[in-house]
Amino acid sequence: MEKFDIVIIGSGPGGYVAAIRAGQLGLKTAIVEKDKELGGTCLNIGCIPSKALLTSSNYFMFAKKEAAKHGIVIENATVDLNKMLQRKDKVVKTMNSGVRSLMKTNKVTTFEGLGTISAPGKVTIKSSDPGAVAQEIETKNIIIATGSVPVELPFAKFDGKTIVSSTEALSFTEPPKKFLVIGAGAIGLELGSVWNRLGSEVTILEFLPRIAVGFDLELSNLLQRSLTAQGITFHLESKVSAIEINNGRATATATKGKEELKFEADKVLVSVGRKPFSEGLGAEKVGVEFDDKKRIKIDKHFKTNVEGIYAIGDVVAGPMLAHKAEDEGIACVEGIAGKDGHINYDAIAGVIYTNPELAGVGLTEEQAKEKGMDYRVGKFPFRANGRAVANEELDGMVKFLADAKTDRIVGAHILQHAASELIAEAVSVIEFGGSSEDLGRTTHAHPTLSEAVKEAALSVEKRALHIINR
Ligand SMILES: Cc1cc2nc3c(=O)[nH]c(=O)nc-3n(C[C@H](O)[C@H](O)[C@H](O)COP(=O)(O)OP(=O)(O)OC[C@H]3O[C@@H](n4cnc5c(N)ncnc54)[C@H](O)[C@@H]3O)c2cc1C
Repeated sequence: MEKFDIVIIGSGPGGYVAAIRAGQLGLKTAIVEKDKELGGTCLNIGCIPSKALLTSSNYFMFAKKEAAKHGIVIENATVDLNKMLQRKDKVVKTMNSGVRSLMKTNKVTTFEGLGTISAPGKVTIKSSDPGAVAQEIETKNIIIATGSVPVELPFAKFDGKTIVSSTEALSFTEPPKKFLVIGAGAIGLELGSVWNRLGSEVTILEFLPRIAVGFDLELSNLLQRSLTAQGITFHLESKVSAIEINNGRATATATKGKEELKFEADKVLVSVGRKPFSEGLGAEKVGVEFDDKKRIKIDKHFKTNVEGIYAIGDVVAGPMLAHKAEDEGIACVEGIAGKDGHINYDAIAGVIYTNPELAGVGLTEEQAKEKGMDYRVGKFPFRANGRAVANEELDGMVKFLADAKTDRIVGAHILQHAASELIAEAVSVIEFGGSSEDLGRTTHAHPTLSEAVKEAALSVEKRALHIINR
C-alpha cells in the first residue's frame, strides 16, 4: 500500500495550494479529487469563469456606452454569446492544465475519485468510471479540503433549467429575457450584472434591507445606486415564499412588508449562500466533529478532534473565499511540517466584482460602532482623482476607519472599477499594523487611482489635498 506524509482530499484553492506548499517542503504528498478536473469550485464553476464573463460583458458595455466618450466609434456593437462562453471555457481549461502541471512539478501524486477516510491514516479512493476498483492509500496526515455547494430553497429545488444555481448561470446559451436573482450577495450581484449587461431584464430580491451584507453599508448603498442606474431592479426586505413553474417559466411570490409581490421569470438564480460539503467523505464515521452549521470543527492549527486529521477552506468556519482557503492550506501544511503557519483573519479582503467593484477589509463602520470603538473616518471620492477623471471612472470612493487613539487602520473600503486591486495596499498596511499617517506619508505614483487611497488616509486627519476637508 502506497504511504504518504500528507493526503489532501479536494483540489480547490485550499487543497491544491496546500499540496504545492507540502511539495515545496519535501513532504510526500497526494491529492484526491472526485471531479475530472483539478481546481475545485473556484477554478471550474466559481471565481475564474465568473470573472471571465464579467470582463467580457464589461468590454461589451464599454463598446456600447463608453467608447464614444473617448472618441472611439463602434457602431452596432453586438455579442456573440457562443464565442464569449467558449473563451470563458478556454480560460478555465488553461488554468486546469496549469494546476495539473503544478502538481507534477511539486511531485504531488494525483488520484481521481471520491476520497473516503476509512480510518485515521487511511483514505479509500473510488473513481466514478464504470468498473473502477477502489484503492486504499496510507498517510501520516489527512487534510480535508472538500469545499462547499450552493444552498437550495426548500420550496424551490434546483432543476438546472428554470431554477438554477451559479453553475448553470455561468453557461446560459442565451440571455434570459427576464432573470430573477434571489439574494444580493457577491454571486447574485456579479451574475445579475453579467446578464443585465448582455441584455436580460434583471430583478434582484433580497430578504435584508440592504445589498452586499458584510460590506460597509455606505459603500453598499452607493453600489446599489450604480447598479440601479445600469438597469437592475432591486426589491429589498422581500422574502420569497414560493416559486411555481409553468411551461418552463417561473412565477415567484414574495412578501415585502404587508404587500404580496409576484415576479415572472425565464430563469431564477438562487444565490442565498453556500454550505459546507462533506458527503461521502466518511469523516463522521471516524469521529470527526462538526458544528451546528455542518462545518468541520478545528482548532487554531486546523486540527480536528481526531489525531492526524485537519480541515481547511469552505468546509470550516470563516468567510467562504478562495484566498482564505489558500492561506489556510499553507498555514496548515506549515504547522504539520513543524513551522509557524499563521493567518490574520482581520486582514482578509472581500470583493464584489461588479462595475464599480466593491472591496473591503477589516471592520465596517457598523462593526466599529457595534464594538463601541472610538474611531475616525477618512474618505476620498474618485471624482477628485486625476487618473479616475482621465479614465472616465468617477463612481465611488475610498473610506478608511482608524482607531482614534492609536491611528491604527482597522478597516478599509473601496468602491471603484479597480477596487479589487487597490484594496491590496490597505490589506498590507493592516497586516503590518500600520496607521493612516503611515499611509498618508507614503509617496504614491502620479497619476494613479492609488493616490485616492493615500488621500483617504490623509483625510483621517482632515488633511486630504484635493478636496475640502470637513
Ligand atoms: C460563482 C462563484 C464565484 C465565486 N467568486 C469568488 C471570488 O471571486 N473570490 C473568492 O475568493 N471566492 C469566490 N468564490 C468562492 C470560492 O470559489 C470558494 O471560497 C473556494 O473555491 C473554496 O475553496 P475550497 O478549496 O475550500 O473548496 P472548493 O473550491 O469547493 O473545492 C473542493 C473540492 O473538493 C472536491 N471534493 C469534495 N469532496 C470530495 C471527496 N470526498 N473526495 C474527493 N474530492 C472531493 C470537490 O469536487 C472540489 O473540487 C466563488 C464561488 C462561486 C460559486
